[in-house]
Amino acid sequence: MLTAGKALFYTCIVAKRLVAYLNEVHRINLPRIVLLGKGVLESIAEVFGELGLKRPLIVTGENTYSIAGERVEEILGEAGLVPEVLFCKKADLDTVYKVKNSAQIRNADVVVGVGGGRTIDVAKLSAYQSNAFFISVPTTASHDGIASSSASIKGSGKPYSLKANPPLAVIADSQIIAESPYRFTASGCGDVIGKSVSVQDWRLAHEDNGEYYGEYASSLALMSSRLIMRNAELISENKEAGVRTLLEALVSCGVSMSIAGSSRPCSGSEHLFSHTLDIIAPGAAMHGEQCGVGSIMMAKLHGLDWESIRSGLEKIGAPTTAKALNISPEILVKALVTARETRPDRYTILDKINLTKSSAWKLAEDCGVI
Ligand code: ZN
Repeated sequence: MLTAGKALFYTCIVAKRLVAYLNEVHRINLPRIVLLGKGVLESIAEVFGELGLKRPLIVTGENTYSIAGERVEEILGEAGLVPEVLFCKKADLDTVYKVKNSAQIRNADVVVGVGGGRTIDVAKLSAYQSNAFFISVPTTASHDGIASSSASIKGSGKPYSLKANPPLAVIADSQIIAESPYRFTASGCGDVIGKSVSVQDWRLAHEDNGEYYGEYASSLALMSSRLIMRNAELISENKEAGVRTLLEALVSCGVSMSIAGSSRPCSGSEHLFSHTLDIIAPGAAMHGEQCGVGSIMMAKLHGLDWESIRSGLEKIGAPTTAKALNISPEILVKALVTARETRPDRYTILDKINLTKSSAWKLAEDCGVI
């Protein structure tokens, strides 16, 4: 006869096995096709054919429509498809709501995001929430969202990214991106260089809290950061070859997050600093610019070579000071002190070294940031 004690005993065994099973199974979703290089936009119809996609909805901005969206519409039209087009202005929940409730998305089997970071994020989240595939066609290289599985959306109540699916395909035309304002490219570099800090935060969370840590995902993110530092001068020339290097690094960062199953390898204390600035000084600077400046100071807290991070950013022409971020020293210090509260579930060096107003001020001064 099964007593209550025995039943509990067996339930515990089943629960333990279930936990072990869940820990063992690690699902990785990756893009199927990544096209990088000069003129790859022209191959979008072949990508559609290869993937068996038939009913595209293009989500784009007004400016990016004339840069690449219109051409995508034309090519797909010539291939016998009938693409719908939706324009989005902001990366907020209202816009995502409008796209995912549109009549156009109901008929679509794929959402093609053509534009900068904001458009890509809206298209990615709308596709995810509508069970449609997503294709990423970036026109700038300002952050690592072009190939990642997360989307940064305002009004979600969370200053950090929301979960979505990675793109089924990434079509990143380096010629188009090389013609975008250089500030976007420099910002993308800041985002990637920050990975030398975020991987350390991840390792720390593993050592201190036993959080899952993946050596492979971590190495991939770190390698991307080193690649950008090594190619800083090439990138600063703002030509196709430098942009291509950055695009490869951004795609690798997206892949590293997909392998990790979270943004952990690519988002640590330097991102907490940036997210905090988005709250207390909205619109002052770009995401990657803030991450770059944050990574100088967080690298010092980690005991890393913060001076080489700073000089890498300088060579690229990315901001390295509060002034270049259009914020006052007081705001910068406030962001440093309060960053750890922005995302309490993300353990970083800021939980280990509790910055006060005076120690944060000294850190920023020592790093030449203020
Ligand atoms: Zn980022």
